[in-house]
Amino acid sequence: MVIKMEKVDVTIIGAGIAGITTAYYLQKNFPNITYKIIESRSDVGGTWDQMKFPGVRADNDMYTYGFSFNPWQGPIIGKGQDIKKYIKQTAEKFNIKKHILFNTQVTSSSWKDSQWITKTNRKNFTSQHVIFCTGSRDRKNPHLPKFKNENKYQGKIVHTQAWGDTDYKNKNVTIIGSGCTAITMAPSIIKEAKKVTLVQRSPAWIINIDSQEKSSRGYKTFEVLKDYIFSRFFKKSLRKKIIATDPYYNETTTPSYDYWDQRPASSLDQDYFRAVESEKVSIVRQGISNWETTGVKLQNGKVIHSDITVMATGGNAQLLGGIDIFVNDKKVNINDTSWYRGMMFSGIPNLFAHAGYINFSWTARCEIVSQRICTTINYMKKKQLTSCTPKYLGEKSKPSIQANYVLRAMDKFPNRTYKFYQNYLIEYLSFKWSKVNDGAVDFK
Ligand SMILES: Cc1cc2nc3c(=O)[nH]c(=O)nc-3n(C[C@H](O)[C@H](O)[C@H](O)COP(=O)(O)OP(=O)(O)OC[C@H]3O[C@@H](n4cnc5c(N)ncnc54)[C@H](O)[C@@H]3O)c2cc1C
Repeated sequence: MVIKMEKVDVTIIGAGIAGITTAYYLQKNFPNITYKIIESRSDVGGTWDQMKFPGVRADNDMYTYGFSFNPWQGPIIGKGQDIKKYIKQTAEKFNIKKHILFNTQVTSSSWKDSQWITKTNRKNFTSQHVIFCTGSRDRKNPHLPKFKNENKYQGKIVHTQAWGDTDYKNKNVTIIGSGCTAITMAPSIIKEAKKVTLVQRSPAWIINIDSQEKSSRGYKTFEVLKDYIFSRFFKKSLRKKIIATDPYYNETTTPSYDYWDQRPASSLDQDYFRAVESEKVSIVRQGISNWETTGVKLQNGKVIHSDITVMATGGNAQLLGGIDIFVNDKKVNINDTSWYRGMMFSGIPNLFAHAGYINFSWTARCEIVSQRICTTINYMKKKQLTSCTPKYLGEKSKPSIQANYVLRAMDKFPNRTYKFYQNYLIEYLSFKWSKVNDGAVDFK
């Protein structure tokens, strides 16, 4: 079989928030550019097309999570399906959708003879630049902690990443996990389930959001960053203050880590706090020992009986969509590279990749990174350069936030970071004011 080859200026992989943002800025800056977005799913939206669990929604405000170039018109917190519609409407409004090749899986990208060859299961692409918009999670293999005797359990085990048609009406449901997903889905499940038990080994900090709140992108940016920075300086006193003033926190529900060491989960109009007051709900703070025929057995010996056990245990972090990368026929191990400004990797020419924030809106970072990519391409065009390759520089990587999925995946990330601040304000200024040729990149 002859595999077709198509030539474009830029190959984009992924049609979620990052892919659509990238395409928007490329078109805006280079009206004659040719590009293709390759997407393995059959629709746009990425995360918001995949996630179908009850109550799925954004955790942070849509003022900052929406695109600045197509502001969100709905309520402050967007529901999963509405966010998907919004991404799709944005792709249509800016004529991006016609550039997407759906149902196509990228298998590898190889840099050779000053160009990228991106291989897919349908056709291949050559391009000068490749931009990875593949998200941060392994879409196919979520994090599924293993407990002894799983085969014994006679109920259904479902991970939130692969919800399918799970029916929980009048069922006893156990939700394992305490992160954003568990806190979001619990109030929804409780409406129809018979009984819900939340098993939390390590509970989360939870903030409440008022669904009627009206604000602006600028104010929300200021407010979130102010809270985050304040929490870094006054860790201990803030912790004490929250515990003293919020009756929700007790021995079972107080997190072991400090406020903002991980992204706080959010409750909407007190929905989570009301839900856990209901007699149908109980929260236990325990590790799990093993499976029994009727449910999980906790480390204190108690068995939680359930028809369905929901693993709200998060994702497995994955960079570059698990796609094999080759530079001059040599396979790259990302763990051996240094991460240049959280958007490129040392030794890999003309490859850009989006990675969002853990402490601020993902979209906001996609926008500033996309603009920086365009500035870089523009610089290369003007100087008639063909490649830009970050040098191996920087500091030994250490996670800026203690989220479990980040800690679990440290060996899959670059071993050094160079100017990756995990701070929107600093990055915004740095991307805007620092030179493209900042000494950390080889231009040829
Ligand atoms: C329930 C939930 C709530 C969240 N809430 C927030 C929030 O409030 N704020 C926030 O900032 N973040 C939030 N996030 C994080 C969220 O993932 C990001 O905000 C954002 O959606 C990521 O967009 P993306 O385009 O970078 O990646 P994704 O949405 O993951 O899209 C990547 C796309 O790339 C495609 N792809 C990957 N590999 C390949 C391949 N080999 N070939 C072809 N296509 C490929 C995938 O199919 C997918 O469509 C939330 C996540 C979840 C799960």
